[in-house]
Amino acid sequence: MKTLNDFNFQDKRALIRVDFNVPLNDDFQVTDATRIVSAKPTIIKILEDGGSCVLMSHLGRPKGVQDEYSLKHIVNKIEDILGVEVKFANDCVGAEAEEMANALEPGEILLLENLRFHEEEKQGDRHFAEQLSKLGDIYVNDAFGTAHRAHASTTIVAEFFPNAKCFGLLLAKEIESIKKVMEDGEKPVLAVLGGAKVSSKITVIENILDKVDHLIIGGGMTFTFIKAQGGKIGDSICEDDKMELALEILKQAETKGVKIHLPVDVVAADDFSNTANTQICDVNAIPDGWQGLDAGPKSRENFDAVVNQCKTILWNGPLGVFELETFSKGTIALGDSIANATKNGAFSLVGGGDSVAAVKQFGFEHKVSYVSTGGGAMLESLEGKTLPGIAAILN
Ligand code: AMP
Repeated sequence: MKTLNDFNFQDKRALIRVDFNVPLNDDFQVTDATRIVSAKPTIIKILEDGGSCVLMSHLGRPKGVQDEYSLKHIVNKIEDILGVEVKFANDCVGAEAEEMANALEPGEILLLENLRFHEEEKQGDRHFAEQLSKLGDIYVNDAFGTAHRAHASTTIVAEFFPNAKCFGLLLAKEIESIKKVMEDGEKPVLAVLGGAKVSSKITVIENILDKVDHLIIGGGMTFTFIKAQGGKIGDSICEDDKMELALEILKQAETKGVKIHLPVDVVAADDFSNTANTQICDVNAIPDGWQGLDAGPKSRENFDAVVNQCKTILWNGPLGVFELETFSKGTIALGDSIANATKNGAFSLVGGGDSVAAVKQFGFEHKVSYVSTGGGAMLESLEGKTLPGIAAILN
């Protein structure tokens, strides 16, 4: 696996695919700069080698050229974070971009305008990728968040750098973390899967049953399993058409020697709101008119015991409706348990959408081993797929 450290960038221009798809407020201020901060080590290493950087990214989902999605809005933020002046090209391909890239001196940075202002980017257009390839000597992919897309800048462009392409430090770390869990995790290995629906996680569950010793299933997914086993779930979220599948998963787990842990009790509410009336119920006996919105105290205790006996932990998906304070305790307790296990030497990886938001919101970000920067890319990795952006560098 070629990484940045296999190249010396002295007097070379690195064409780097970064993921600067950051959230902006109405005044075009960056509200969460994590993705820029995450790309910093790669950029700085290249500059310190005596190279220059051409940065390319998408921002949002523009339809053609739309000023509100211009990357010019984030130039100042990037300069603040990197401590280096950033030049800006008004188009990501064409004469101006080529001239500006050619004129870069060692230690300088050029940011290209939003790749998705050209529809060829998402189409994975070869000619467009070739135009991009003219802007650098070495192609570096450091964008895990888009590694599951076969777009021009994430995958196709690599073809034009057969001997001069590598992973950036961030992407390399993502790949290593997933490998640490899915391939060479110290046993016992645990996956915690929460979130709303079985249907969005089914491929992950099926793939993961071959990798783990324990599987905690929580969140809204719980109730499809409980109802399928004959439990009374009141008005809790449930996918009736997935009940058979849930039973099949339980059977498969037994055959494969994977211990499945479901909640035994829940915080049930008479309304989906912070001010709802609540009661603690047995997970199998939720009254009509009530819905389970969080893991109950006994479940939290059980999960804590499981987490603390494991050496490798993957967490994807919250254990309850953590966005509402009333139903955030299960997710917070799990975060505490994983933080404690990590402190005692376990490797913990948090990834995929809402669990990352929860981890940040509740301050666990620096108490776990690694927080992934990719939502969809992380889920597809856990499903066992080889991501096209990764394959393009490996091939
Ligand atoms: P996902 O994107 O599949 O990881 O799902 C995350 C969402 O699941 C969050 O917005 C949670 O509020 C929601 N969720 C978690 N537990 C429950 C539950 N018991 N009932 C309804 N929604 C839930």
